[in-house]
Amino acid sequence: MNSETKINLLDFDLQGMREYFAALGEKPFRATQVMKWIYHFGITDFDEMSNLSKVLRERLKVEAEVRLPEIASDHLSQDHSRKWLFRLEDGNCIETVFIPVDGRGTLCVSSQVGCSLNCSFCSTAQQGFNRNLTTGEIIGQVLAASIAIGISENRGERAITNVVLMGMGEPLLNVDNVVPAMRLMMEDNAFGLSKRRVTLSTSGLVPAMDQLSETIDVSLAVSLHATNDELRDELVPINKKYPIAELMEACRRYAVGAPHGKITMEYVMIDGVNDSEAEARELAKLLKDVPSKVNLIPFNPFPGSDYRSSSDRTVRRFQEILIDAGHITVTRRTRGDDIDAACGQLAGRVQDRTRRTQKLKLERSA
Ligand code: SAH
Repeated sequence: MNSETKINLLDFDLQGMREYFAALGEKPFRATQVMKWIYHFGITDFDEMSNLSKVLRERLKVEAEVRLPEIASDHLSQDHSRKWLFRLEDGNCIETVFIPVDGRGTLCVSSQVGCSLNCSFCSTAQQGFNRNLTTGEIIGQVLAASIAIGISENRGERAITNVVLMGMGEPLLNVDNVVPAMRLMMEDNAFGLSKRRVTLSTSGLVPAMDQLSETIDVSLAVSLHATNDELRDELVPINKKYPIAELMEACRRYAVGAPHGKITMEYVMIDGVNDSEAEARELAKLLKDVPSKVNLIPFNPFPGSDYRSSSDRTVRRFQEILIDAGHITVTRRTRGDDIDAACGQLAGRVQDRTRRTQKLKLERSA
């Protein structure tokens, strides 16, 4: 049996793992034993899983493995954030970023190879789209990052305290694989994070937001970025399908059972595009009845984009208006920009299946 046909144990959440061991004729507790070896200790070699019987270890070696994405590159920023480029089995590469701030360690993971949406201010969009990541490839980023940071030295005190699905891709277009991966992030036998510390970020796919709230309890962030449909259609084209009023309704529904009873609204601050004082007031009005907090993200530039970041003064003024209107508002400091690890700068290496990259090249050479 070669590596490609072997079962990747990272594809299983707890229930999947139990079913797998049951099919082997093993007791259910084997599932949690193996999970702990993998996620608590970063052990991927069955021979080192000393509380399993020799027979079981041999059997696992024949038909299963713990297949991690391979580190293609590893960059450390001056501000201590760290970015990995992970190579997947099919040669595509995805990016994952670790951001340690004030005692918290946030890992930003990807959910797709590229992205099929075409947000005008995001560099992932320019890479086109290849495919959804598997559950094993999503949780594999968390495990590979934990191992690289030093899982075994930090036993009990984990370096990764929060996970955000804010890397490459639209997680709600890959719900089937994202949900089991998030279960593993929150599972005590795996990463054991609380639902307040696992956040899915979406461009606003309304039906999938409802589906998510029925399926799993996690924090939600919505990429809003505009206060009227005309501008949002341009920045986040999926808005044409799910316009702002519908999106706000969906946010209200989600907030009811959400961790903290709130959702996070992300708003990229782009110079002269969406950053006027009038828009700050509009935003305050729009969010009046939506239980939420606002995250302002100064636009991070990338090659090929004509947008510029709003000035510090403009961002501060925008924030003041929201705070004065009673909205909890924070400005996310740009992190890791010296290694292109900031929001919207993640680019991976995508074997594009759409014609988008080709079209962009033509447009630029014209
Ligand atoms: N598809 C999901 C998750 C990926 S984007 C979503 O749209 O939410 C994660 C966050 O980074 C989003 O809020 C996104 O709007 C923001 N972002 C994208 N490009 C950016 C850029 N160039 N500068 C700053 N933030 C950006």
